[in-house]
Amino acid sequence: MVDTLNIDIRRTANSRIKEVDFANIPFGKVYADHMFVADYDGKQWTNLRIQPYEYLRLSPANSALHYGQSVFEGMKAYKNEEGEVLIFRPEANFQRLNKSAERMCIPTLPEDIFMSGLTELLKLDKDWVPSTPNTALYIRPFIFATDEYIGIRASETYKFIIFTCPVGSYYSEPVRVKIETKYSRAVEGGTGAAKAAGNYAASLFPARKAQQAGYHQLVWTDARSHQYIEESGTMNVMFLIGDTLITSPISDTILSGITRNSVLTLAREWGYKIEERKVSVKEVIEAIENGTLKEAFGTGTAATIAHIALIGHEDKDYELPPIEGRELSNRVLKTLDAIKTGRAEDKWNWVYKL
Ligand SMILES: *Cc1c(COP(=O)(O)O)cnc(C)c1O
Repeated sequence: MVDTLNIDIRRTANSRIKEVDFANIPFGKVYADHMFVADYDGKQWTNLRIQPYEYLRLSPANSALHYGQSVFEGMKAYKNEEGEVLIFRPEANFQRLNKSAERMCIPTLPEDIFMSGLTELLKLDKDWVPSTPNTALYIRPFIFATDEYIGIRASETYKFIIFTCPVGSYYSEPVRVKIETKYSRAVEGGTGAAKAAGNYAASLFPARKAQQAGYHQLVWTDARSHQYIEESGTMNVMFLIGDTLITSPISDTILSGITRNSVLTLAREWGYKIEERKVSVKEVIEAIENGTLKEAFGTGTAATIAHIALIGHEDKDYELPPIEGRELSNRVLKTLDAIKTGRAEDKWNWVYKL
């Protein structure tokens, strides 16, 4: 196996880093100098390389473009006070990438290729990891089919790529969400638990309708009854009702968020009562109306915690309590930030140092 880990490195001759205004980074538009690439040749992952971030040459008959065999991940790297690079929970992302791959008939990736590709890439582009508050280097690993074939079957060949981009905050304000009761993101037996490209394409139309009505995001409900809350765009959702933190359980219609897991771990540690169970729309609305709903928030890598300011349901908008008074989510946000940047003890070994 040793020779598969020979990573061929071709450096850029023209670093673009000086063009970047790190004090003012738009989300997902600026890419670091290099990317890691590996090919699946039908038998194994080979041809490991780091090269300048550049366009790919693809056949118009590339099967991923037509039938969507494509899965992705998202994670972040930070700098500590010594300027060392810290990656938050990359092994968890690796495992989830392979779970998504299995669901989409994509060959899984050996852990050493994922981890060596990631670490070598970040060593080379470590100057791209920003260090100002609320910034990070977003890391996008993904695998997609590369067969030049328009029959429908699992592709024989694939590419695995990791590229990165420095990012600032994802949401600049608390979010207004609409509870979706017509369209569905995921069905039992479907692909909702996979970070598969097509899931996001399918969500765009209902999300756009919600945006046109003045909301930032949708909250999806179960496809069968639309009575139970599942998750939001690319976030899991949680509610603090009384002293109990409630979130829908992981199932095949819900993406198993790493931030979700981290938040539950912290809240449990702090003595909150936690319930991973079905949460109905009715229960949430009633809790808003009788004043027992204290906090509602989304959890995900992009935003970490997105406070929910308002929930819309069937032509009615419900205002939630002010953000300043939200003890749990504000504490989670602060604590996770401190752990990720090496300023707080990393009890659960979440941080991977380069
Ligand atoms: C990525 C994602 C999440 C959040 O997962 P994290 O690991 O916390 O970033 C939640 N829901 C969906 C649908 C997602 O794609």
